[in-house]
Amino acid sequence: MDGGREDTQRDTMKKVIEELKRLGCYYLQNFPMDRYTSLRVGGVADLIVYPRNHLEFVQVLNLLSSVAVPWMVLGGGSNTLVHDEGIQGVVVSTKMMRGIEVLDDGVVVAEAGAVLGSILNMSIRAGLSGFEFAAGIPGTVGGGVFMNAGANGGEIKDVVERVWLWLEGREVVLSRDEIKFEYRKSHLPEGSVVTKATFVLKPGDREEIKRRVKNYLERRSKTQPITMSNCGSVFKNPHEIPAGKLLDELGFKGFRIGGAKFSEIHANFIVNLANARASDVLALIDIAREEALKRRGIVLEPEIKIVGKVKG
Ligand SMILES: Cc1cc2nc3c(=O)[nH]c(=O)nc-3n(C[C@H](O)[C@H](O)[C@H](O)COP(=O)(O)OP(=O)(O)OC[C@H]3O[C@@H](n4cnc5c(N)ncnc54)[C@H](O)[C@@H]3O)c2cc1C
Repeated sequence: MDGGREDTQRDTMKKVIEELKRLGCYYLQNFPMDRYTSLRVGGVADLIVYPRNHLEFVQVLNLLSSVAVPWMVLGGGSNTLVHDEGIQGVVVSTKMMRGIEVLDDGVVVAEAGAVLGSILNMSIRAGLSGFEFAAGIPGTVGGGVFMNAGANGGEIKDVVERVWLWLEGREVVLSRDEIKFEYRKSHLPEGSVVTKATFVLKPGDREEIKRRVKNYLERRSKTQPITMSNCGSVFKNPHEIPAGKLLDELGFKGFRIGGAKFSEIHANFIVNLANARASDVLALIDIAREEALKRRGIVLEPEIKIVGKVKG
Protein backbone atom coordinates (compact mmCIF):
# COMPACT_ATOMS: atom_id res chain seq x y z
CA MET A 1 0.00 0.00 0.00
CA ASP A 2 1.38 3.48 -0.82
CA GLY A 3 2.01 6.00 2.00
CA GLY A 4 -0.93 8.29 1.17
CA ARG A 5 -3.48 5.49 1.03
CA GLU A 6 -2.10 4.01 4.21
CA ASP A 7 -2.56 7.34 6.04
CA THR A 8 -6.13 7.69 4.77
CA GLN A 9 -6.93 4.13 5.82
CA ARG A 10 -5.43 4.75 9.27
CA ASP A 11 -7.49 7.96 9.68
CA THR A 12 -10.66 6.18 8.62
CA MET A 13 -9.94 3.36 11.05
CA LYS A 14 -9.47 5.90 13.85
CA LYS A 15 -12.86 7.41 13.02
CA VAL A 16 -14.45 3.95 13.04
CA ILE A 17 -12.97 3.26 16.49
CA GLU A 18 -14.17 6.61 17.82
CA GLU A 19 -17.67 5.86 16.57
CA LEU A 20 -17.60 2.34 18.03
CA LYS A 21 -16.64 3.87 21.40
CA ARG A 22 -19.53 6.32 21.10
CA LEU A 23 -21.93 3.46 20.35
CA GLY A 24 -20.54 1.50 23.30
CA CYS A 25 -19.54 -1.51 21.14
CA TYR A 26 -17.05 -4.12 22.21
CA TYR A 27 -14.05 -4.34 19.88
CA LEU A 28 -10.44 -5.52 19.85
CA GLN A 29 -7.58 -4.26 17.72
CA ASN A 30 -4.93 -6.45 16.08
CA PHE A 31 -6.78 -9.64 16.81
CA PRO A 32 -5.00 -12.94 15.92
CA MET A 33 -7.48 -14.87 13.81
CA ASP A 34 -5.87 -18.22 14.67
CA ARG A 35 -7.71 -17.78 17.99
CA TYR A 36 -10.98 -17.41 16.12
CA THR A 37 -11.10 -20.03 13.39
CA SER A 38 -11.72 -23.71 14.10
CA LEU A 39 -8.66 -24.58 12.00
CA ARG A 40 -6.57 -22.40 14.33
CA VAL A 41 -4.65 -20.67 11.56
CA GLY A 42 -4.66 -17.11 10.25
CA GLY A 43 -2.90 -13.80 10.79
CA VAL A 44 -4.02 -10.67 12.57
CA ALA A 45 -7.22 -8.74 11.78
CA ASP A 46 -6.85 -4.98 12.15
CA LEU A 47 -10.07 -4.78 14.13
CA ILE A 48 -12.74 -7.18 15.32
CA VAL A 49 -16.12 -5.94 16.57
CA TYR A 50 -18.59 -7.98 18.62
CA PRO A 51 -22.09 -6.48 18.47
CA ARG A 52 -24.14 -7.68 21.44
CA ASN A 53 -27.61 -7.27 20.01
CA HIS A 54 -29.57 -6.60 16.85
CA LEU A 55 -29.48 -2.80 17.23
CA GLU A 56 -25.70 -2.72 17.73
CA PHE A 57 -25.22 -5.13 14.82
CA VAL A 58 -27.19 -2.88 12.47
CA GLN A 59 -25.44 0.25 13.77
CA VAL A 60 -22.02 -1.34 13.15
CA LEU A 61 -22.97 -2.50 9.64
CA ASN A 62 -24.37 0.96 8.81
CA LEU A 63 -21.19 2.57 10.10
CA LEU A 64 -18.85 0.28 8.16
CA SER A 65 -20.80 0.59 4.94
CA SER A 66 -20.51 4.37 5.14
CA VAL A 67 -16.71 4.49 5.29
CA ALA A 68 -13.94 3.29 2.99
CA VAL A 69 -12.74 0.36 5.08
CA PRO A 70 -13.00 -3.28 4.00
CA TRP A 71 -15.12 -5.41 6.32
CA MET A 72 -16.61 -8.87 6.56
CA VAL A 73 -18.94 -10.79 8.85
CA LEU A 74 -17.95 -14.03 10.53
CA GLY A 75 -19.94 -16.43 12.69
CA GLY A 76 -18.22 -19.38 14.31
CA GLY A 77 -15.25 -19.35 11.91
CA SER A 78 -15.75 -23.09 11.36
CA ASN A 79 -15.72 -22.87 7.57
CA THR A 80 -13.13 -20.17 7.13
CA LEU A 81 -9.44 -20.11 6.35
CA VAL A 82 -7.72 -16.78 7.06
CA HIS A 83 -4.50 -15.95 5.20
CA ASP A 84 -1.29 -15.70 7.24
CA GLU A 85 -1.13 -12.01 6.33
CA GLY A 86 -4.34 -11.52 8.26
CA ILE A 87 -7.32 -9.35 7.47
CA GLN A 88 -6.91 -5.76 6.44
CA GLY A 89 -9.98 -4.00 7.76
CA VAL A 90 -12.74 -5.04 10.11
CA VAL A 91 -14.25 -8.37 11.10
CA VAL A 92 -17.75 -8.16 12.51
CA SER A 93 -18.28 -11.20 14.69
CA THR A 94 -21.78 -12.45 15.53
CA LYS A 95 -20.45 -14.59 18.39
CA MET A 96 -22.15 -12.48 21.06
CA MET A 97 -25.56 -12.62 19.37
CA ARG A 98 -26.70 -16.08 20.35
CA GLY A 99 -30.36 -15.56 21.28
CA ILE A 100 -32.76 -18.44 20.56
CA GLU A 101 -36.46 -18.55 21.31
CA VAL A 102 -38.73 -21.56 20.82
CA LEU A 103 -42.32 -20.48 20.17
CA ASP A 104 -45.40 -22.60 20.92
CA ASP A 105 -46.14 -23.41 17.28
CA GLY A 106 -42.78 -25.13 16.64
CA VAL A 107 -41.15 -22.01 15.24
CA VAL A 108 -37.61 -21.29 16.44
CA VAL A 109 -36.36 -17.70 16.25
CA ALA A 110 -32.57 -17.41 16.30
CA GLU A 111 -30.10 -14.54 16.09
CA ALA A 112 -27.30 -14.69 13.52
CA GLY A 113 -24.72 -15.89 16.04
CA ALA A 114 -26.87 -18.63 17.58
CA VAL A 115 -24.97 -21.91 17.46
CA LEU A 116 -26.65 -24.65 15.42
CA GLY A 117 -25.94 -27.18 18.21
CA SER A 118 -27.74 -24.96 20.73
CA ILE A 119 -30.82 -24.81 18.48
CA LEU A 120 -30.69 -28.59 18.25
CA ASN A 121 -30.45 -28.95 22.04
CA MET A 122 -33.35 -26.57 22.61
CA SER A 123 -35.47 -28.32 20.00
CA ILE A 124 -34.80 -31.69 21.67
CA ARG A 125 -35.91 -30.24 25.03
CA ALA A 126 -39.06 -28.90 23.37
CA GLY A 127 -39.75 -32.26 21.66
CA LEU A 128 -39.35 -30.75 18.20
CA SER A 129 -37.98 -32.69 15.25
CA GLY A 130 -36.34 -31.51 12.03
CA PHE A 131 -33.03 -30.06 13.22
CA GLU A 132 -31.35 -33.42 13.93
CA PHE A 133 -29.39 -33.27 10.66
CA ALA A 134 -27.28 -30.46 12.15
CA ALA A 135 -25.84 -32.65 14.93
CA GLY A 136 -22.10 -32.02 14.97
CA ILE A 137 -22.09 -29.03 12.58
CA PRO A 138 -20.28 -26.42 14.65
CA GLY A 139 -21.48 -23.25 12.86
CA THR A 140 -23.89 -20.43 13.56
CA VAL A 141 -27.22 -19.45 12.01
CA GLY A 142 -25.60 -16.78 9.78
CA GLY A 143 -22.86 -19.11 8.52
CA GLY A 144 -25.30 -22.00 8.28
CA VAL A 145 -27.79 -20.07 6.15
CA PHE A 146 -25.03 -18.54 4.02
CA MET A 147 -23.50 -21.98 3.39
CA ASN A 148 -26.79 -23.91 3.36
CA ALA A 149 -25.06 -26.21 5.83
CA GLY A 150 -26.15 -29.80 5.79
CA ALA A 151 -25.45 -33.37 6.80
CA ASN A 152 -27.24 -36.66 7.33
CA GLY A 153 -29.63 -36.05 4.44
CA GLY A 154 -30.82 -32.66 5.67
CA GLU A 155 -29.92 -29.05 4.98
CA ILE A 156 -30.72 -25.63 6.43
CA LYS A 157 -33.05 -24.99 3.48
CA ASP A 158 -35.33 -27.84 4.68
CA VAL A 159 -36.12 -26.14 7.98
CA VAL A 160 -35.60 -22.41 7.48
CA GLU A 161 -38.78 -20.35 7.27
CA ARG A 162 -37.62 -16.72 7.01
CA VAL A 163 -34.30 -14.93 6.89
CA TRP A 164 -33.76 -11.35 8.10
CA LEU A 165 -31.06 -9.57 6.13
CA TRP A 166 -29.23 -6.30 6.48
CA LEU A 167 -28.81 -4.94 2.97
CA GLU A 168 -27.22 -1.55 2.36
CA GLY A 169 -28.74 -0.01 5.46
CA ARG A 170 -32.17 -1.59 5.02
CA GLU A 171 -33.72 -4.58 6.72
CA VAL A 172 -35.14 -7.12 4.30
CA VAL A 173 -37.06 -10.27 5.21
CA LEU A 174 -37.04 -13.15 2.73
CA SER A 175 -39.12 -16.28 2.97
CA ARG A 176 -37.52 -19.61 2.15
CA ASP A 177 -39.17 -19.67 -1.28
CA GLU A 178 -37.56 -16.35 -2.16
CA ILE A 179 -34.04 -17.71 -1.63
CA LYS A 180 -32.41 -20.05 -4.11
CA PHE A 181 -30.49 -22.67 -2.17
CA GLU A 182 -28.08 -25.18 -3.63
CA TYR A 183 -25.48 -27.58 -2.32
CA ARG A 184 -23.45 -25.61 0.30
CA LYS A 185 -24.56 -22.29 -1.12
CA SER A 186 -27.47 -19.94 -0.79
CA HIS A 187 -28.06 -17.15 -3.26
CA LEU A 188 -28.55 -14.28 -0.83
CA PRO A 189 -28.53 -10.77 -2.28
CA GLU A 190 -24.96 -9.57 -2.91
CA GLY A 191 -23.57 -7.77 0.14
CA SER A 192 -26.37 -8.85 2.46
CA VAL A 193 -25.81 -9.99 6.04
CA VAL A 194 -28.01 -12.45 7.92
CA THR A 195 -29.17 -10.91 11.19
CA LYS A 196 -31.83 -13.41 12.24
CA ALA A 197 -33.73 -16.45 10.97
CA THR A 198 -36.73 -18.53 11.87
CA PHE A 199 -36.96 -22.30 11.51
CA VAL A 200 -40.08 -24.45 11.45
CA LEU A 201 -39.90 -27.77 13.28
CA LYS A 202 -42.49 -30.48 13.89
CA PRO A 203 -43.54 -32.18 17.11
CA GLY A 204 -41.71 -35.48 17.48
CA ASP A 205 -40.92 -38.22 19.94
CA ARG A 206 -38.14 -36.90 22.19
CA GLU A 207 -36.48 -40.30 22.69
CA GLU A 208 -36.56 -40.98 18.96
CA ILE A 209 -35.02 -37.54 18.23
CA LYS A 210 -32.28 -38.18 20.82
CA ARG A 211 -31.58 -41.60 19.34
CA ARG A 212 -31.16 -40.14 15.85
CA VAL A 213 -28.83 -37.41 17.12
CA LYS A 214 -26.76 -39.96 19.05
CA ASN A 215 -26.39 -42.11 15.91
CA TYR A 216 -25.32 -39.11 13.81
CA LEU A 217 -22.75 -38.02 16.40
CA GLU A 218 -21.38 -41.54 16.82
CA ARG A 219 -21.01 -41.90 13.06
CA ARG A 220 -19.21 -38.54 12.91
CA SER A 221 -16.79 -39.48 15.67
CA LYS A 222 -15.88 -42.66 13.78
CA THR A 223 -15.50 -41.09 10.34
CA GLN A 224 -14.15 -37.56 11.01
CA PRO A 225 -11.08 -36.24 12.88
CA ILE A 226 -13.25 -34.53 15.51
CA THR A 227 -10.48 -34.29 18.14
CA MET A 228 -8.18 -32.21 15.93
CA SER A 229 -8.47 -28.60 14.74
CA ASN A 230 -10.06 -28.57 11.28
CA CYS A 231 -12.59 -26.64 9.21
CA GLY A 232 -14.90 -29.43 8.10
CA SER A 233 -14.95 -30.63 4.51
CA VAL A 234 -12.32 -28.77 2.52
CA PHE A 235 -13.83 -29.45 -0.92
CA LYS A 236 -17.39 -29.75 -2.14
CA ASN A 237 -18.24 -33.20 -3.40
CA PRO A 238 -17.88 -33.17 -7.20
CA HIS A 239 -20.63 -34.91 -9.24
CA GLU A 240 -18.33 -37.77 -10.18
CA ILE A 241 -17.22 -39.05 -6.75
CA PRO A 242 -17.22 -37.93 -3.07
CA ALA A 243 -14.23 -35.63 -2.51
CA GLY A 244 -12.93 -37.77 0.38
CA LYS A 245 -12.94 -40.94 -1.74
CA LEU A 246 -11.21 -39.16 -4.62
CA LEU A 247 -8.49 -37.74 -2.35
CA ASP A 248 -8.02 -41.15 -0.77
CA GLU A 249 -7.67 -42.80 -4.20
CA LEU A 250 -5.14 -40.12 -5.19
CA GLY A 251 -3.08 -41.03 -2.12
CA PHE A 252 -3.65 -37.88 -0.09
CA LYS A 253 -4.64 -39.52 3.22
CA GLY A 254 -1.92 -38.48 5.68
CA PHE A 255 -0.18 -36.26 3.12
CA ARG A 256 1.50 -33.43 5.02
CA ILE A 257 2.91 -29.99 4.27
CA GLY A 258 4.39 -28.09 7.21
CA GLY A 259 1.99 -28.30 10.14
CA ALA A 260 -1.07 -29.31 8.12
CA LYS A 261 -2.12 -32.64 6.67
CA PHE A 262 -5.00 -34.46 5.03
CA SER A 263 -6.54 -36.53 7.79
CA GLU A 264 -5.96 -40.27 7.81
CA ILE A 265 -9.52 -40.70 9.08
CA HIS A 266 -11.21 -38.70 6.28
CA ALA A 267 -9.17 -37.36 3.37
CA ASN A 268 -11.49 -34.40 2.76
CA PHE A 269 -10.48 -32.93 6.13
CA ILE A 270 -7.25 -30.99 6.63
CA VAL A 271 -6.09 -31.02 10.24
CA ASN A 272 -3.76 -28.67 12.04
CA LEU A 273 -1.09 -30.93 13.60
CA ALA A 274 0.69 -28.11 15.41
CA ASN A 275 1.38 -24.53 14.44
CA ALA A 276 0.16 -24.99 10.87
CA ARG A 277 0.20 -21.88 8.75
CA ALA A 278 -2.46 -20.89 6.27
CA SER A 279 0.19 -21.26 3.56
CA ASP A 280 0.56 -24.96 4.49
CA VAL A 281 -3.19 -25.48 4.13
CA LEU A 282 -3.32 -23.52 0.86
CA ALA A 283 -0.42 -25.57 -0.51
CA LEU A 284 -2.32 -28.79 0.31
CA ILE A 285 -5.44 -27.42 -1.39
CA ASP A 286 -3.48 -26.42 -4.51
CA ILE A 287 -1.70 -29.71 -4.91
CA ALA A 288 -4.88 -31.74 -4.37
CA ARG A 289 -6.74 -29.66 -6.98
CA GLU A 290 -3.87 -30.01 -9.43
CA GLU A 291 -3.63 -33.77 -9.03
CA ALA A 292 -7.42 -34.28 -9.21
CA LEU A 293 -7.51 -32.39 -12.49
CA LYS A 294 -4.37 -33.91 -13.97
CA ARG A 295 -5.02 -37.53 -13.01
CA ARG A 296 -8.82 -37.74 -13.03
CA GLY A 297 -10.01 -34.70 -14.97
CA ILE A 298 -12.06 -33.62 -11.94
CA VAL A 299 -12.36 -30.02 -10.78
CA LEU A 300 -12.32 -29.78 -6.98
CA GLU A 301 -14.07 -26.69 -5.69
CA PRO A 302 -13.20 -25.56 -2.15
CA GLU A 303 -16.13 -25.60 0.25
CA ILE A 304 -14.22 -23.51 2.79
CA LYS A 305 -14.11 -19.73 2.46
CA ILE A 306 -10.62 -18.34 2.09
CA VAL A 307 -10.42 -14.77 3.40
CA GLY A 308 -7.90 -12.09 4.18
CA LYS A 309 -5.68 -9.84 2.18
CA VAL A 310 -1.99 -9.48 1.74
CA LYS A 311 -1.03 -6.48 3.83
CA GLY A 312 1.21 -4.25 1.80
C1 LIG B 1 -15.61 -30.38 12.66
C2 LIG B 1 -16.46 -29.71 11.59
C3 LIG B 1 -17.50 -30.39 11.00
C4 LIG B 1 -18.29 -29.77 10.04
N1 LIG B 1 -19.31 -30.49 9.47
C5 LIG B 1 -20.10 -29.87 8.55
C6 LIG B 1 -21.19 -30.59 7.97
O1 LIG B 1 -21.46 -31.74 8.28
N2 LIG B 1 -21.95 -29.94 7.05
C7 LIG B 1 -21.71 -28.64 6.68
O2 LIG B 1 -22.44 -28.09 5.85
N3 LIG B 1 -20.67 -27.96 7.21
C8 LIG B 1 -19.86 -28.54 8.14
N4 LIG B 1 -18.82 -27.84 8.67
C9 LIG B 1 -18.52 -26.49 8.19
C10 LIG B 1 -19.20 -25.35 8.97
O3 LIG B 1 -19.48 -25.73 10.30
C11 LIG B 1 -20.48 -24.89 8.29
O4 LIG B 1 -20.23 -24.42 6.97
C12 LIG B 1 -21.15 -23.75 9.07
O5 LIG B 1 -22.38 -23.46 8.49
C13 LIG B 1 -20.29 -22.47 9.09
O6 LIG B 1 -20.82 -21.61 10.04
P1 LIG B 1 -19.91 -20.52 10.77
O7 LIG B 1 -20.80 -19.66 11.55
O8 LIG B 1 -18.79 -21.15 11.50
O9 LIG B 1 -19.37 -19.74 9.48
P2 LIG B 1 -18.04 -18.91 9.31
O10 LIG B 1 -16.90 -19.83 9.10
O11 LIG B 1 -17.91 -17.89 10.37
O12 LIG B 1 -18.38 -18.17 7.92
C14 LIG B 1 -18.58 -18.93 6.76
C15 LIG B 1 -19.10 -18.00 5.65
O13 LIG B 1 -20.37 -17.51 6.06
C16 LIG B 1 -20.38 -16.08 6.05
N5 LIG B 1 -21.20 -15.62 7.16
C17 LIG B 1 -21.08 -15.90 8.47
N6 LIG B 1 -22.02 -15.27 9.18
C18 LIG B 1 -22.78 -14.58 8.29
C19 LIG B 1 -23.90 -13.71 8.40
N7 LIG B 1 -24.45 -13.43 9.58
N8 LIG B 1 -24.40 -13.18 7.27
C20 LIG B 1 -23.87 -13.42 6.07
N9 LIG B 1 -22.79 -14.23 5.89
C21 LIG B 1 -22.26 -14.80 6.99
C22 LIG B 1 -18.92 -15.67 6.24
O14 LIG B 1 -18.67 -14.38 5.73
C23 LIG B 1 -18.20 -16.77 5.47
O15 LIG B 1 -18.17 -16.47 4.10
C24 LIG B 1 -18.01 -28.44 9.65
C25 LIG B 1 -16.95 -27.75 10.24
C26 LIG B 1 -16.18 -28.38 11.21
C27 LIG B 1 -15.05 -27.62 11.85
